[in-house]
Amino acid sequence: MSTAMDGYLQQQLDAIQAQQRVRQRQPYRNSAGTRLTQADGRELRVFCSNDYLGLANHPALKAAWCDAVDRYGVGSTASQYINGHSLEIQALEQELADFLGYPRVLLFGSGYLVNTGVIDALLGRADGIASDQLNHASLIDGCRLSGSRVKAYAHASCKAAESALDELQDCRHRLLLSDAVFSMDGDVADIPALARTAQAHQAWLMLDDAHGLGVLGPKGRGSVAAAGLGPTEVPILTGTLGKSVGVYGAFVAGSQALIEYLSQVTRTVIFTTALPPALVASARAALQLIQAGDERRTHLHKLIESFRAGLIKRGLPQSPSCTPIQPLVVGSESRAMALSAGLRERGFWVSAIRPPTVPAGTCRLRITLSAAHQSEDVEALLDTLADVYSGLPACP
Ligand SMILES: *Cc1c(COP(=O)(O)O)cnc(C)c1O
Repeated sequence: MSTAMDGYLQQQLDAIQAQQRVRQRQPYRNSAGTRLTQADGRELRVFCSNDYLGLANHPALKAAWCDAVDRYGVGSTASQYINGHSLEIQALEQELADFLGYPRVLLFGSGYLVNTGVIDALLGRADGIASDQLNHASLIDGCRLSGSRVKAYAHASCKAAESALDELQDCRHRLLLSDAVFSMDGDVADIPALARTAQAHQAWLMLDDAHGLGVLGPKGRGSVAAAGLGPTEVPILTGTLGKSVGVYGAFVAGSQALIEYLSQVTRTVIFTTALPPALVASARAALQLIQAGDERRTHLHKLIESFRAGLIKRGLPQSPSCTPIQPLVVGSESRAMALSAGLRERGFWVSAIRPPTVPAGTCRLRITLSAAHQSEDVEALLDTLADVYSGLPACP
């Protein structure tokens, strides 16, 4: 039976189809580091995961997971405030605080939950937010949820951020909000300049370091540490455990007062089931590995350099990113889809990124590198990329 609702939704779906923006999930039956086996049995080399350090398949993380399952079972069974607050959570919060050099940390279910929840908890209708126009959707949704006045400023422009804050000067509190590493472009925010701007305007500064944690800075402490800064300059710092940490979950770091307040009022931690203890135990094992040595980071940064040099050598366009996120912007939906499909036929899995994830006309392959890749993986990708790219239809 087709209802009026279904008819309406079908029209909407047809419109998405006409724009070539249908998203398709690709099931796989197993995954081992940078290779996965599709449902049809074909093996693909993956160049679009956020597992930058190659920890998601690390034996130490698997062992920590299994060991904790024996002790705790698989589910956390309730929110952190009911009976979901395992010793694992308590320990990881302390270990993250020590690692980051922040007074205190609060764990969340995901980066999406931490960003939406924290912004909503801290700001309301009387407040104003200056937000980089390329900020992640979870930050944008946090702004919406808070009901604050929002001024999106031109990407990475401190001048524009200052004007946005000036326009918000009647607000009770003002927040300057930015990705530390931009998720679809890989460029790093000018954190010292953001800190100075926030301070000069008596605004709060919140950074989301989803892609810097583990990858940038001394011992992988992230973008803020890489800039030589800390909680004084960047009082609100969020990050995820789903990317370089290789597991799942997220956190906010800040002062004792900030974290105590957030732990009392943030709806996305109070009204949701706590992270399973085994998952948190794996994240603790990952944090040990991240701090233990620079081998993975050194290898990763070498791969990034050789990938970028390889692009130039083959006449392919290079992006201004020195992080593992190396976008190849091709413009239209059809070009991005054709490039992704061509690579897939040749054994490489790099998904096409289209609006609303990126602005219209900037569709791209978001190529990501991992410490689990070998140099020959990267060379093979570059050769195949050059081949498929040269066969693309011209820009319309
Ligand atoms: C991936 C991402 C998030 C969301 O983190 P999850 O843990 O996957 O929910 C938040 N911010 C940025 C910048 C991201 O890239």
